[in-house]
Formats: sequence, C-alpha cells, structure tokens
Amino acid sequence: MKERFDAIVVGGGPAGCAAAYTLAKGGLAVLLVERGRFAGVKNMTGGVLYGPVLHDLIPEFWKEAPVERHVSRHVITFLSEKTSVSIDFNSAGLDQPLYDGFTVLRARFDRWFADKVEQAGGVVITGVRVDDLLWDGQRVVGIVAGGDRIPAEVVIAADGVNSVMAGKAGLGVKLSPENVNQGVKEVIKMRREVIEERFNVAGDGGAAMHFLGFCTRGVHGGGFLYTNKESLSLGVVVQLQALIENNLKSVELLEGFKAHPAVRELIKGGTTVEYSAHLVPAGGLRMVPRLYTDGLLVTGDAAALVLATGRALEGLNFALASGMAAAETVKLAKAKGDFSKETLSQYEKLLAESFVLRDLKKFEQSADFLENQRLYSLYPGLACSLAEKIFRVDGKPKKTVWQLAREEMKGKVSLWQLLRDGLAARRTI
Ligand SMILES: Cc1cc2nc3c(=O)[nH]c(=O)nc-3n(C[C@H](O)[C@H](O)[C@H](O)COP(=O)(O)OP(=O)(O)OC[C@H]3O[C@@H](n4cnc5c(N)ncnc54)[C@H](O)[C@@H]3O)c2cc1C
Repeated sequence: MKERFDAIVVGGGPAGCAAAYTLAKGGLAVLLVERGRFAGVKNMTGGVLYGPVLHDLIPEFWKEAPVERHVSRHVITFLSEKTSVSIDFNSAGLDQPLYDGFTVLRARFDRWFADKVEQAGGVVITGVRVDDLLWDGQRVVGIVAGGDRIPAEVVIAADGVNSVMAGKAGLGVKLSPENVNQGVKEVIKMRREVIEERFNVAGDGGAAMHFLGFCTRGVHGGGFLYTNKESLSLGVVVQLQALIENNLKSVELLEGFKAHPAVRELIKGGTTVEYSAHLVPAGGLRMVPRLYTDGLLVTGDAAALVLATGRALEGLNFALASGMAAAETVKLAKAKGDFSKETLSQYEKLLAESFVLRDLKKFEQSADFLENQRLYSLYPGLACSLAEKIFRVDGKPKKTVWQLAREEMKGKVSLWQLLRDGLAARRTI
C-alpha cells in the first residue's frame, strides 16, 4: 500500500465511489475503504437512479453498468383499503438515451462502481470498517481502521446516514424520528416475460410505481414498486415518528401493502429472495450540517443530501453529485497544496451552484408540507371514493363530477382547507 494517500474515502456507496473514481481519474492517490464484504453488499435503495448525473462522470454508463431497466413508465397510485386510482405516464421519449432513470439493485451496482474505481487507479479495500479519524490538532489527517493508522491529506466521509466520521468531527446530522424515514423492501423474483406482460413494458423498459394512502395505513410515508430485469423491488418508506406515534411496524405495513388488491395481482407467483431495511434522511435543507472542516468533507446521506418532496425520494444522484463535487474540491486543494477549510469551502460553493443545494433550498418547505396527515389518508381516500362514484352507473339520475366531489368532501374537508392545501402544495412539491 502507498505510504501516504492524497485522499481517503470512507464508504463505497454512490457518494464514495463517485468521489474516489473522480479522484483516481484525476491522477490522485486515493484509497476507498468499505466495511461490507464487497461494495453494495448490504446497501439498499428503492431504487431508481434518476437523471443524467452519472452520465456526466461515466458517459453512457448504462452500456456497461449493471442497471436493470430504464424507466419508461411512471405510475402514481392513490390507495384506499380496497380501491385504487392511478395516474399513468408513458412516453416514447423515456425510451431514448439519455433516459430518465434506471432501476438498480445496489449489490450489483455499487460493486461495479467500486471496480471502476480500481480500474481508474484507486485502491479499494473492502471488509474493513473505519473506526476513527486521525487528528493533528484541529485538522483531520487520516483514518484509523482495523487497528491501522492510515494518513492522508484529506478524508471524504461517504459513510451514509448515521455517519460516524462526520459525527467524530462534530459535523454529524442530527437525526430525530421526525426527520428520518425507515424503508423496508423485498426483492421478488419473477420471470422476465411475466414482468413485461403484467407491467406493460417491453425490452429493457420498466415501470416505477409510487403509492400513497392505505399502503402506510394513512400515515406519513408511501409505497413503491419497481421492475427489474427478472425481479421486482417493492417496499414502504415511513417517517419514524409516524411509526412510533401510531404503534405501527414497517414490516406489517409491507405485508398489508403486498395484500392490497392493486398490488397483490402484480406480485402474484413471485418469490421473495431478499429483504432489507434502511433509514433515509428526509428533513431537507434544515438537516444539512456544516459540510467541511480542515482535512474533511462530508457527502451524500452522511450530509443528509436527500430530496424528499413527496414527488419522489431522490438520494442517489445527490450522493453522486456531492461525491463528484468533493473530489473536484480535493483536486483544487491538491493543486494549491492546501487542505485547510478555507480551500475546502469550495465544496459548498460547487454544491450551491449545482442542483444539489439549489433543489434542497427550493423545496425547503417540503418537510413541513409532508407533515400534513390529509395527504396520506383523506386525499387518497377521497380520490378513490370519488372515482368509484364517477365510474359507477347505478340507474339513478346522474350528478355532475362537481356535485359528486362536493358530496364526497362534505364533513371531511372544506373547500377553504382544500384550497389552502393546494396552495401549500404549489410551493413545495
Ligand atoms: C427504502 C429506500 C428507498 C430509496 N429509494 C431511492 C430511490 O428510488 N432513488 C434514489 O435516488 N434514492 C433512494 N433512496 C436514497 C438513497 O438510497 C441514498 O440517498 C443513497 O444510497 C445515499 O448514498 P451514500 O453513498 O451517501 O450512502 P450509502 O448508500 O448508505 O453508502 C454508505 C456506504 O458506507 C459504508 N460505510 C458505512 N460506515 C462505514 C465505515 N465506518 N467504514 C467503512 N464503510 C462504511 C456502507 O457500508 C455503505 O456502503 C432510498 C433510500 C431508502 C432507505
């Protein structure tokens, strides 16, 4: 092993691999340390990798990366106990490069990414947990892992939610039940032809389905169902506080979600081959800690760089982009020969110019908006019961949709309240 690395990256998830790959490509001596037996072995995402961020780093990555399917169909479904109403978006444009997103299975995807780091000249060590940071006064000068003290000019913390590295430097995210969601997920094996027929997708196209309402028994959270090549990823993500307050267990919610008529038929005959649970920061910008100090940068979930607007949960591209920005900052620091926090402050500037901090800023109010219980129980229920009335022909004189809507809303929500919620949504979704 090298005597001294320019940079040590802690964590081989998307943030860590993006940082280490960028540094290795830039000719810097970089060490990536991952505690898992291999990168991705225990990592978990819903998971759709949205947007073109990885394409900026590895052009046309989908031609070599183990992505599952590109998303050619987006579905949003509102659930009541027995009924569902969906918005189904298909577009030929989604079938074209650059595509809009890919379903991924992290055990394959992260492993491929860590291999890319090695191919680019980085050193990757797996199966080793980093226990501590090395200090020279107030400055981080390396890591302590497996009893070894490994020095470096700079450390990049990419060790995910609950980051020990950021915590040790006093930059840790303050996790609380209100700002963290718990996700549970199953991977359900299914034949390729069955998936394509059931989900109305062809070739390498796939569906990303999001659910709101009964899947979480009407509490703060949602469900998802994504198609992979020969499996489905299905899960629920629920705010920790909502689980505690309502005495609910994610695993029971998942079972209820699987049994719902709108889901049951889609997963019928499949075999569960994987089960996982993970936390995800969901408090938005107000959760984001200071992102750097002398000799240390914090990226991805470790810095709570996740966008949760209710439209989707986006963390992967935020992790990638922050990892890349951290690496660019380290390249600058290396050129200057100065790894002080003054030089490393460039990291925050880069994030502020990119979608990462701009989106988090723009949707700063989303966390408050998503506290509105009506989003998870009342409105999905109303959508379902209204659809039932609209589509049922019962032999009686018909009413207009407006009359039916007023009848459904009566005693449940006032027009004024609906308007206020609509205005709040306008600013935050
Ligand atoms: C249920 C669920 C569904 C989600 N769905 C989506 C989705 O569809 N799309 C999306 O964009 N985002 C989604 N996310 C969010 C996304 O998964 C995260 O934002 C993203 O994984 C963050 O990447 P990261 O590299 O920062 O952290 P991680 O992916 O958590 O990687 C951290 C890595 O650090 C390693 N590590 C930790 N501590 C140490 C240590 N001490 N020493 C060495 N290694 C260490 C871990 O083993 C891990 O490999 C979802 C999250 C959950 C929980």
